[in-house]
Amino acid sequence: MIQFLDLKKVNALYETEFHEKLKSVLEKGWYILGNEVATFENNFANYCGTKHCIGVGNGFDALVLIFKGYIQLGKLQKGDEIIVPANTYIASILAILEADLVPVLVEPKIETYNINPDLISEKITFKTKAILAVHLYGQLAEMDKINQIGIQYNLIVVEDAAQTHGAILVESRKPKVESQKAGNLSNAAAFSFYPGKNLGALGDGGAVTTNDSELAKTIQSLRNYGSEAKYQNEYIGVNSRLDELQAAFLNVKLPNLDAENNSRRRIAKRYLSEIKNEKIILPFWDLSENHVFHLFVIRTENRNHLQQYLLENGIQTMIHYPIPPHKQKAFSNWNHLLFPITEKIHNEILSLPISPVMAVDEVGLVVSVLNRY
Ligand SMILES: *Cc1c(COP(=O)(O)O)cnc(C)c1O
Repeated sequence: MIQFLDLKKVNALYETEFHEKLKSVLEKGWYILGNEVATFENNFANYCGTKHCIGVGNGFDALVLIFKGYIQLGKLQKGDEIIVPANTYIASILAILEADLVPVLVEPKIETYNINPDLISEKITFKTKAILAVHLYGQLAEMDKINQIGIQYNLIVVEDAAQTHGAILVESRKPKVESQKAGNLSNAAAFSFYPGKNLGALGDGGAVTTNDSELAKTIQSLRNYGSEAKYQNEYIGVNSRLDELQAAFLNVKLPNLDAENNSRRRIAKRYLSEIKNEKIILPFWDLSENHVFHLFVIRTENRNHLQQYLLENGIQTMIHYPIPPHKQKAFSNWNHLLFPITEKIHNEILSLPISPVMAVDEVGLVVSVLNRY
């Protein structure tokens, strides 16, 4: 059986170093907001090219704390509207709601699964104050266009980079080729280190990256009960700190992230060039480093049938995600809304196995089984 994602194998690579880190944390006897967290924040800010990184409890909290930070700074207010892609993972939308803001859904492009920038302006009202650009499945959203809209309408732009650690935007229009990484393409970005993400911890974890020193300072305080100096509370904060041990594990894995992303890209290139079946629509990729293939998502008309066929041939697949947010029971007031592209995507998508530890012959097997379908 080819597993969809063999996480045990992914992490086995680092086992010795993980043990050493555990030993060192035990010896130090410091478990919350210690050296490992500070080091990781520094390492990850450097990696993304941002001035600041703040480690938090998970990716959802990273998003919520960005919005709450802007509220504390008076740049957002309860009830403000936030533009977000209609086909995103539910956490993006829940985070907006958790901060007492109002999500406004916009259709994606069917080729890239990312928000269609041409459909944003028509959803902007006097209440719109921000765009949450989600880099879905590992591919950067069209940040040039999105940031342009942000400037035009004076909106805050936030990245949901939970699936995109290390993706690079190459600005070909600039005379000198300038590249910028996910997390450094907007006012502030949220990352998740959930175990299955491209940079995954051995439990929950998250981070905010930003070049805005005021926002960074506010979030640093908000994640720790709104307190900077012990027992003095400046804000109504929460407890959402990146765990010291998880930070230690992430410090072990970060230096290998680019290599792991390249392994994913190599598999994606093979899928894109070798899968030849009229019933299967492959994802669009411009072959630049703007995609880190958190997921390799194909489309097909009879998705459940294809999934069953693959399973019978020993290949495990997943659906990210089977029900669009506006059709969820939790959002019964949205159930009547029509998002035809989003609904088509959710009906037709299937995620193929892809990971840095997938063997060459496993990729070949997936290709040949798909080509026989
Ligand atoms: C994983 C994910 C999140 C949430 O991250 P958690 O660490 O699970 O809270 C948010 N947005 C997207 C797009 C994600 O994939």
